[in-house]
Amino acid sequence: MKTFPMAYITAPGKIEFRETELREPGSDEVMIQVQSAAICGSDLHLFKGKHPSVQLPSAVGHELSGSVIKTGTAVTRFREGDRVTVEPVIACGHCEFCLRGQYHLCSNISFQYRKGQGAFAPYFYAPEKRTYLLPDSLSYEEGALIEPLSVALHAVKKSGIRLGDSVAVFGAGAIGLLVCSLVKHAGGSNVYCVDVSDFRLQKSLEMGATRSINNLSENALDVIREDTRGMGVDLAFEAVGREQTLAQALESVRKGGSVTLLGIFEDSDIRVPVHLFIQREIGLVGSQGYAWDFDDAITLAHNGLVPLKNMVTHRFPLSELQKGFDLLLTPGNTAVKVETQF
Ligand SMILES: [Zn+2]
Ligand SMILES: [Zn+2]
Repeated sequence: MKTFPMAYITAPGKIEFRETELREPGSDEVMIQVQSAAICGSDLHLFKGKHPSVQLPSAVGHELSGSVIKTGTAVTRFREGDRVTVEPVIACGHCEFCLRGQYHLCSNISFQYRKGQGAFAPYFYAPEKRTYLLPDSLSYEEGALIEPLSVALHAVKKSGIRLGDSVAVFGAGAIGLLVCSLVKHAGGSNVYCVDVSDFRLQKSLEMGATRSINNLSENALDVIREDTRGMGVDLAFEAVGREQTLAQALESVRKGGSVTLLGIFEDSDIRVPVHLFIQREIGLVGSQGYAWDFDDAITLAHNGLVPLKNMVTHRFPLSELQKGFDLLLTPGNTAVKVETQF
């Protein structure tokens, strides 16, 4: 049996490569030679052993790009040499949500890496229907970031943003930065980005934020209120996943405003200031992954509207993946997106 190495997280903080069977693609699958794979915030939750819905050991990695090297017998849209990226979600196709086209809400939803198909490996097998062609204008490095861009895009669409809205984005990780960029293009007027890292806040200004606020040296709520004549912003996004930032996001919006949640909460047992919802008629919107967003994300990136290149701060060979994870968990690091290259 021929094999190839695939990264697994076997215990908190520990990456191990496991030999995986090198097989022919199934009839509806393309076999991809991975060229770039990026570490996602959710991979970090997994690395810490604190992902709310995944147990260790688990394969890891779902943000990738590569070239098609083989196609299954029923595949019609791709051929050898095509440059592609993958929507790594697995939906059952027959539950009521899938039948309504809301496959991101599938009752049996899963992801490739949870089924032993991680992206930190030389090869990746993907169903044709979840594979997307990359235009030549996008590098493999950028192609691997279409997945997080789709997450941000889905949330910004769900937020219902309108021309002229003021926006506060809590969290300047990759997703928060992408949200900053997209809300600016969607007509956001003032875009406040709140984080605790000066390095990432600087990035937020390059991505589209009009004002960055370091939550350690300034009080984000004071700054936002002062700047909005005490009103608060029209919309806020919570892209951190913590009780404190959720409370701040809820406090930062004006009466009648709304908050969109897209951070992963490691601790789901948190307190929420419920009185705000009624007294101020605040809306709370959840955003789960993506559905029908990949094409739009690719087009936005192709047209140069989102500076994906700007986000890749570190590159490691696959064999040094552990270093990439360790770096991202080092306090005060200056990393946004870490990619492995092949
Ligand atoms: Zn991701
Ligand atoms: Zn389903």
